[in-house]
This record gives sequence, C-alpha cells and structure tokens, in this order.
Amino acid sequence: MQKNLVLFPVFFLFLLFSGFVGADQKQPKDAIEVRKINPPNLDNANLGKRILCHRPMRQGTPKMYTEIVDNKLIAHNYGHGGSGWTLGPGAVKYVIDLLDQQMQAQKLAKNTPITIVGAGAIGLFSALELLQQGYQNITIVAESFDNLTSHNAGGLLAPVSMDNDPELQKLIDQIGIDAYIFYKNVALGKNKLIPNGAVIVPTYFENREDSGLEAYVGQVMQPAKDVILDFQNGTTRRMVAYDDGIFMDTGSLMTSLYNAVADQVTFKKKKIHNFNEIPDQVIVNCTGNGAKDLAKDDKMIPVQGHLIMLKDQEPADLQHMILVYFGKGKTKTGFNVKRSFYMFPKKLVGSPAKDVGVIGGTFIEGADEKTPNNDEYEIMLNGAKQFYGLASTKQ
Ligand SMILES: Cc1cc2nc3c(=O)[nH]c(=O)nc-3n(C[C@H](O)[C@H](O)[C@H](O)COP(=O)(O)OP(=O)(O)OC[C@H]3O[C@@H](n4cnc5c(N)ncnc54)[C@H](O)[C@@H]3O)c2cc1C
Repeated sequence: MQKNLVLFPVFFLFLLFSGFVGADQKQPKDAIEVRKINPPNLDNANLGKRILCHRPMRQGTPKMYTEIVDNKLIAHNYGHGGSGWTLGPGAVKYVIDLLDQQMQAQKLAKNTPITIVGAGAIGLFSALELLQQGYQNITIVAESFDNLTSHNAGGLLAPVSMDNDPELQKLIDQIGIDAYIFYKNVALGKNKLIPNGAVIVPTYFENREDSGLEAYVGQVMQPAKDVILDFQNGTTRRMVAYDDGIFMDTGSLMTSLYNAVADQVTFKKKKIHNFNEIPDQVIVNCTGNGAKDLAKDDKMIPVQGHLIMLKDQEPADLQHMILVYFGKGKTKTGFNVKRSFYMFPKKLVGSPAKDVGVIGGTFIEGADEKTPNNDEYEIMLNGAKQFYGLASTKQ
C-alpha cells in the first residue's frame, strides 16, 4: 500500500511530462514549426552588382591592445576577419578603454591630439567612442573612405570566420555580447546618434554550432528553435532559428557613423607608410588588411569573399537571414576555399526599394585582389539555387 502511494505521484509526473496529460492530440507539443518562405528570384535579370572583398583576418586573435613605440602611444584594433561588424562596437569600447587608462596614466589631457588611421567600421566606431569619452581633438587619416570592406560586408551579426586562441574566447564572447546590446538598441530606435542600420530578423543556420551565437543565448539572446523552412516549391529544409538575430545594414551604418562624428572630427585622405609620419603622439590603428604592411604584422591574412547583390525582389519576402556551409574545396587557382550559401536583406545605399538582398559567400584564405577567383560566383549561385530547390544545375 505504502509502495503504491509513492509510485502514484511518480507515474502522474511521468504522464505530465511525457505529454499525455493535457496535450493537444492533433498537435504534439514537440512538433516542429513549419515556416513558409518565398525564395528570392535568382534569374539572371535579378542579379545585380558582383562584389569581391577581403576580410581582415588575423591568425590567433584580432589585435586589440596598446603599446608604446618610439614615444608614441598606439592602440591597435584590427584583424576581426568576417566579424568586424559583429564585434565592432564592443571591440572598440574595449580598446578605447585601454587607451584611456594609458592616457590617464601618462597624464595626457582630453584635448591631446589623437590620429585614427582607417575610416572603416572600426575607425569610425573609435572616433565615436573617443568623442563619447570626452576626447576633443581627433583626426581620421585614411587611404580611402569609399567602397571599403566595411561598406561591402554582408551584415550578419554572428562571430564567424575568425581565428581565436581558445584562451581569448571569453573576451571575444563578452565583446560580442556588448556589441549585440549596441545593435539591439539601434534596432529599437534607442540610439539617438545612430538612428538606423540594424534590424532584428529571424536568422537560420543548419545547426547551433555554425551560428557562433550559443554564447549569447541566456545572456542577450533567446534559445534557438528547430524549424522547417518550406520554400513552397516542394523543397523543405530543417534548420535552427534565432528569432532575435540582428541584420546590420552596413552601408547605412557607415553613413550613420560618419554623420555622427563628421562635425567634430578632421578627415585627411592619405596613405600612411610608417607611424612616425603621424605628428600626433597618440594613434589608433584601425587599418584592417592594411595593418599587414603598416604594423608589419605577418599574422594578417586576407580572406576573400564573393557577394552578388539581388535586384527587383519582393522586400517583404527577404526579411530574414540564412547561412549554410557546403564544405571545403580548392579554387581553380589552388586556394583552399570554404564554400557557403548565405542570404541577407542588404541594400546598397541609394538603390531602389526593390533592389534588396545579397547572396554570398566564399571564404578563401590568402587570396587577394590579384587572384579574384571569379568562377566562385557561379558556384555560389548554383549552391543558392540548389538550397532553395530552384534548379539543380551542374557545376
Ligand atoms: C564578403 C565579406 C562579407 C562580410 N560579412 C560580414 C558580416 O556579415 N558580418 C560581420 O560582422 N562582418 C562581415 N565582414 C567583415 C567586416 O566587413 C570586416 O571585419 C570589417 O569591415 C573590418 O573593418 P575595418 O574598419 O577593420 O576595415 P576596413 O573597412 O577595411 O577599413 C580599413 C581602413 O583603413 C584604411 N587603411 C588601410 N591601410 C592604410 C594605410 N596604410 N594608411 C592609411 N589608411 C589605411 C583603409 O583605407 C580603410 O579606410 C565581411 C567581410 C567580407 C569581405
């Protein structure tokens, strides 16, 4: 009798958690959600600009520290690979805080002249952070201000395509979480200086590991869900969905960042060959791939990427992001390539409303402009079509 009294609640709890009590018989609790998605139109007439650009990847970790060389205080912040935008605001806060500590230790006043080398995302975020910390005498020197890697980047918030020393992963995770909070505030209209450029959209990967976002779950993001994407043409794909993913509209963010600092910063167009050319004592080095020569950093390796902008699409159909990996191979020129398909709702600044969407992408370590690997555009396009079940073309 006593044994039965003990077993009854155990049996009841089993029924409760196994879904027998109170479950909807037609719709089991763990049924996978099916989401209908209209694929983008990938006909030739709907393909726009082809973009070749190079992620500034540093083996081991991005360079994010200060040093004193020839009496100059130099803060380095480069080498974030395919995650420069993802980490940007957090990485910049981390480095400018280090610089501020050094300047205070050296009793350098807030009006000390500071030169930022580089006008990409990292350079512009650095100017904004310095201004917010009360620094007043800032010059940005850059070889180029237009059509930078930072303008062309796809816009997925995810710490991917980096090479991190596992010991530094905790720091990179925290920087990414800080950056997520920054972009979420932009997306929610809470950042007065950066009024637009980030949007919260569902983001789909084949599995949780591919996303790089698991460290953010429970901190700033909700857990991913298993879902089935139904492309309504007979093709379905099982994916995981992060419904609070963030798309960073990189062209628009570059404009917002530039506008946020333009009145308070001096701009000079110039290539720097040696830090000693810069008269200021304090320098922030945000030169991306340029750091290989300027900082003589052999750990800097460009990671080539191919993108195709889409034209004349239905914008409402493309308000999400997808990233799937296809595996590794060799380009015709002999480089190792990691191939993927991704689609983000990117728009080029000033383009018509229906010219939305970008597909990518390749990851080719060591290839630069001299080896454009143009065959990869077709391989990528075929991969995209196969993913959506639009066509099965031979490569
Ligand atoms: C195909 C592709 C897709 C990407 N997608 C994403 C994505 O989805 N999400 C994400 O987070 N990141 C993405 N990235 C990565 C991201 O674009 C970069 O990490 C980021 O833009 C780097 O910013 P940056 O300011 O360091 O460099 P850059 O934008 O390259 O700017 C460097 C600046 O330094 C200047 N400079 C360089 N050398 C010198 C010199 N010697 N003297 C003077 N000026 C100099 C340049 O002129 C430029 O102004 C992508 C990159 C590529 C290539």
